[in-house]
Amino acid sequence: MGMHLQLTKRTWSFQPAKNIVKYLIAIFLVTSINLKAQDDPINELLKTADILNQTLLELTALSDEDENQIGEQLDKKITGELRLTKERKFNVRSIFNKLVKHVERKKINYSYKIVDTDEVNAYAIAGGKMYINTGILDFLETEDELAFVIAHEISHNELKHCIKRIQYSALASSLDPNLGEIVQLAYNLYSMPYSKYDEYEADDNGVKLMKKAGFNKKGAVSFFTKLAKLEKEYGIDKRDEVNDFISSHPTAEERKERIK
Ligand SMILES: [Zn+2]
Repeated sequence: MGMHLQLTKRTWSFQPAKNIVKYLIAIFLVTSINLKAQDDPINELLKTADILNQTLLELTALSDEDENQIGEQLDKKITGELRLTKERKFNVRSIFNKLVKHVERKKINYSYKIVDTDEVNAYAIAGGKMYINTGILDFLETEDELAFVIAHEISHNELKHCIKRIQYSALASSLDPNLGEIVQLAYNLYSMPYSKYDEYEADDNGVKLMKKAGFNKKGAVSFFTKLAKLEKEYGIDKRDEVNDFISSHPTAEERKERIK
């Protein structure tokens, strides 16, 4: 394939979409004001935000094939800057395969690469690709802990967190982009932190996924217990904003309490 992406139904016509977005934001604001009288305004607000998100996603629909293709191109750009290595601890392949059997998005080409760096981190990009640092493999002690980390990263794609950001960005820029431009947008975005809401959602889905694959949820709890200690050592000022795990938002402690 060349650099031209077959976008689903050619829906990348953004002028009408932008007007709809303004309309949706207006509805969103009115709904938020009405929420004052309700019992659980935060939850209601999140539900409304979800409907808004869903509608925006439909406006810029990308097929799973489009997403896989974006992932392939983005992976080439990213791995050019990384030192890849072979796994030297745990049978990562076997744990990964067990988890992938239970994904909902069957057409996404889930895969992983091991990156040779001490940083305790793992991260996912659109199209199901995941990078696991040797730093986090050294840090982990059990297969259940690793299963949670991988399940969490898979979940960012299961829940479309990765592709959603690219879609919003394309929508905001009023482009009718070709693949090269979308990949560039994706590249600018991929290392940005997820929202606290997305992280919690990926934790929840990650726990469900690891259980389906026969792993023990205790792995998630012990992982966050150790991570909380590491965060203390780092100090809040040295936590990396873009690290998917050692972050000030949300902290490992908060995430552990939720999972429990
Ligand atoms: Zn995450």
